[in-house]
Amino acid sequence: MTLTARPFALFISDLHLQASHPQTQEAFLRFLREHAAHAERLYLLGDIFEYWAGDDDIADPFNAGIVAALRALSDAGTLVYWLAGNRDFLVGPAFAEAAGLSLLQEPHLIDTGPRRIALVHGDAECTQDTKYMAFRAQVRDPAWQAQFLGMPLAQRKAIIAGLREGSREAQSGQDYQIMDVTPEAVDGVFAALDASVIIHGHTHRPAVHAHGDRLRYVLPDWELDAEPQRGGWIALQRDGSIARYDLDGTIL
Ligand code: MN
Repeated sequence: MTLTARPFALFISDLHLQASHPQTQEAFLRFLREHAAHAERLYLLGDIFEYWAGDDDIADPFNAGIVAALRALSDAGTLVYWLAGNRDFLVGPAFAEAAGLSLLQEPHLIDTGPRRIALVHGDAECTQDTKYMAFRAQVRDPAWQAQFLGMPLAQRKAIIAGLREGSREAQSGQDYQIMDVTPEAVDGVFAALDASVIIHGHTHRPAVHAHGDRLRYVLPDWELDAEPQRGGWIALQRDGSIARYDLDGTIL
């Protein structure tokens, strides 16, 4: 039997939670109970939801269930942090209050032991995707967000459904995939924060990469309702050691 210290922090991203993917939802709830509940902190690094139309959608039964599970985790003593992804960036203070979590701005820095760790979702570092970068600049603009959130919820959901349908069509018939982060953007994050480690998601390319003497950890996406089933998380100990875990809790 090995003794494992209580993790200082667990990191997950890209679960793309949605009512039509019940097994992925169940795996997430199980992860909260069996793993996150034993960590001091849980960092949600973006695209936890497939989409978020605004905090007035908390009443939706599916969303309410996720919020309640996060709240239970927080009430039981795990500190929960949220960093927005490219799909759920409209999460706001009402969601944070209901779920018992703290909203972070990216890049977010945490110091443990010898490590200085920068957290980002990863979409802002895919700088070669110029179409997406222009879209991102638009939808992250506070004035755009205020105008969008001023629309009725049903209208916002219809617009989001149209965007998602459009991106599905763009992806079929060609070898489209999420572009990867660029070395220049990664170096920029390391340099700006003087970080020795970056943890990010978004690209769905789980790995650990060396950038000189610095390390970049990439989180997996979660998918339990389609093949190949996949998911997992990263754990950080107080001494700065980092490990990647598969869905069943095996160290990779
Ligand atoms: Mn993403």
